[in-house]
Amino acid sequence: MITVEQATDIILQHVFSFGEEIVPFNEARGRVLRETLVADRDFPPFDRVSMDGIAIRHEAFAAGQRTFFIEGIQAAGMPPLVLMGANNCLETMTGAVLPQHTDTVVRYEDLEIREGKATILTEDVTEGQNIHRQGTDRRQGETIVQAGRKVAPGEIGVAATIGKTSLQVAALPNVAVISSGDELVEVGDLPLPHQIRRSNVHSLAAALAAWGVRADLLHLRDDREEIEALLSGCLEKYDALILSGGVSMGKFDFLPTAFEALGVRELFHKVAQRPGKPFWFGRGDQTAVFALPGNPVSTFVCLHRYFRPWLRACMGEQPFKPQYAVLETDFFFKPALTYFLQVKLAYREDGVTVARPIAGKGSGDLANLADADAFLELPADRQDFKKGEAFPVIMYR
Ligand code: AMP
Ligand code: MG
Repeated sequence: MITVEQATDIILQHVFSFGEEIVPFNEARGRVLRETLVADRDFPPFDRVSMDGIAIRHEAFAAGQRTFFIEGIQAAGMPPLVLMGANNCLETMTGAVLPQHTDTVVRYEDLEIREGKATILTEDVTEGQNIHRQGTDRRQGETIVQAGRKVAPGEIGVAATIGKTSLQVAALPNVAVISSGDELVEVGDLPLPHQIRRSNVHSLAAALAAWGVRADLLHLRDDREEIEALLSGCLEKYDALILSGGVSMGKFDFLPTAFEALGVRELFHKVAQRPGKPFWFGRGDQTAVFALPGNPVSTFVCLHRYFRPWLRACMGEQPFKPQYAVLETDFFFKPALTYFLQVKLAYREDGVTVARPIAGKGSGDLANLADADAFLELPADRQDFKKGEAFPVIMYR
């Protein structure tokens, strides 16, 4: 049986590109940028006044002058005025261009203004103060945002300020999330005592939606012929199939044989992990097939641990840096399997993220997913995990 790391490597060898598309900049949040955002001019584009007050020549102040005749007002949005008298001042507002022949701004809080004159009340005036100089944040032509970045509100602001009305982003995959099993009924139906509602597809679809991917939801009954017929159509239509259930050892777990019959190449079946051991991964001509075990916690952890990095790689998103959390209590797990421990996270005052085990009743314990908010990935080659040790964490909230 392969390890979690080997499974990850194999999956990342089967990455596709879904192409690129152009979207309006203000609808690009969550999309992966496929172009570089470059400063179209200097940032700021002119010597920008950064306090409301007056603009003077520092020379005059240094020579002992404290009261200045006000020649006029330089408001934001006005072309620059020119200070005529070297011993005068111009009132000037935040966001305005620094008036020509001035070099220092004194804020209103340090002034008394009376009868058209401003008197400076402080001795603490340094040359060049309260001016945000042209080009000090970025120079024209400099990169502001690299391709591969996920667009967040900050990137939208950058796009707006450089006049990009549309952005080139990675296109999204066509994904189907498929449940399987004759025990499953619709959410709106009342299950008979031997049935359960079809919950997995909805938790999976919700996780995908949080990553910006919309999925079609389909269902397979435990019928070999029906499974093949439906999957054959899916392989034509989708870039990725995420199945839940039907890959274990049961008499009605038909998926691996159905995929084999449809010419989907099995790349692995079973990973040394708990939960999620029966995970099956394969690929058709142009479809990646993630056949996840049906138990709700297994399905959920596999989607986060395997599908998400694959998705990021397909979209050309910058590589993911693992996040870590520290165990709050000792934990023991004997089998030689990677254990995905469900934990509740606390962000402590000293900056450490602490993980409290919420072990639950196993992979079928769906309710526990709502109590916990992350999985701590405990390596397979150990049994004892000590309080205070840090491990990679997969957060799902
Ligand atoms: P399977 O992998 O098909 O053997 O399913 C394992 C367990 O997960 C069984 O108890 C199934 O009833 C349950 N299960 C499978 N699919 C779903 C689903 N979509 N929603 C909730 N439970 C499921
Ligand atoms: Mg089943």
